Amino acid sequence: MNTFPVSNKDFFENYAEAVLITDKENTPLYGNPSFTKLTGFSADNLILFKTNSFLNPVENILERLQKAFRWETDLTKHDGTVLTVSSTVSKIILPDQSEGRVYTINSAHASPAQLLLKETETLLSEVKSELAETEKKMVKTNEEMDQLTYVVSHDMQEPLRMIVSYIQLMQKSIDQGKGEQVKEFMKFVTDGAERMQSLIADLLQLSRVNRKGDLFTKSDLNEIVSIALTHLASQIRTNGVDVTVDKLPIVNGDPSQIVRLFQNLLDNAIKFTDPERKPEILISVTDQKTDYLFSIKDNGIGIEKKYFDRIFVIFQRLHSRSEYEGTGVGLAVCKKIVERHGGTIWIDSEVGKGSTFYFTIKK
Ligand code: ADP
Repeated sequence: MNTFPVSNKDFFENYAEAVLITDKENTPLYGNPSFTKLTGFSADNLILFKTNSFLNPVENILERLQKAFRWETDLTKHDGTVLTVSSTVSKIILPDQSEGRVYTINSAHASPAQLLLKETETLLSEVKSELAETEKKMVKTNEEMDQLTYVVSHDMQEPLRMIVSYIQLMQKSIDQGKGEQVKEFMKFVTDGAERMQSLIADLLQLSRVNRKGDLFTKSDLNEIVSIALTHLASQIRTNGVDVTVDKLPIVNGDPSQIVRLFQNLLDNAIKFTDPERKPEILISVTDQKTDYLFSIKDNGIGIEKKYFDRIFVIFQRLHSRSEYEGTGVGLAVCKKIVERHGGTIWIDSEVGKGSTFYFTIKK
């Protein structure tokens, strides 16, 4: 049997392996720094280690074997987590000549149960955050639905009311034999019905963004913008608009939706021009860390700050149809498309100077 100089701590202090010395009854006397590092038990609380699962299986076995032996068991760390350790134990003579034991821990890894628990915890926290994300999305969808239902029912009522009242007038005119008036009223009925038709068509366009979107592919925005400009060529020519386009990047997205996005924004920039000056539009891009920031700047009539949010809501317009054509759905569609591409859209504008629409697309 070896004699270990327990009093001479230096002997074990620099051991890479964790070493624990106990008396014959497994009362811990000394743990080296590696032991403290591995288990969290230090001189202050080492006595608590006496009841540790690590020491249980060796009782009596060593008595019978009468020599050093290696075994694998669980060791509960000071923080409560469990390690599976491979250790050796042998008898020693302590400085006071009594019999003691020296434990050396050769390898340690988290116990399978502990690993499973950790994996389950990770999985659980992933599921939790996904759930929270879904909940957030659902709240947003519900709010959007409420807003949509309100706006749609409000805006659809108007042409419908017109149709109904003119049909009543037509009925009256027919009763009174006034054929000419019927023709006149018929025009209003047709106008109302056509407006209903275009409102419904726009609504469908909005709902298609999420339902009927294509898969994302590498999309060259230089090509995409030139397609959008081709679609708008006659308006550009008629209004004498100068369009400048910076070199644009390739992004991952739904090409036909991005054409629609640029086209709607350009369409507005061409439509809301200021007759006082030659219309100019500039499309540029800034490469940001995780996304691209695009801007479409015009020198048109501009928008008051208080309307900055409202214009992205479906059917919200700041002008009458007699001033500027439109149904007020273009920007709502833009917002949906940008959000589908993981970005955000906003406006900066000054009345009488012009507007800049900004949007981001994730890289
Ligand atoms: P629409 O163009 O059919 O009216 P949009 O949703 O595209 O519908 O736009 C909503 C409103 O936002 C417009 O009616 C207009 O008042 C305002 N707007 C959009 N773009 C511009 C712009 N470039 N300059 C000034 N006003 C704009």
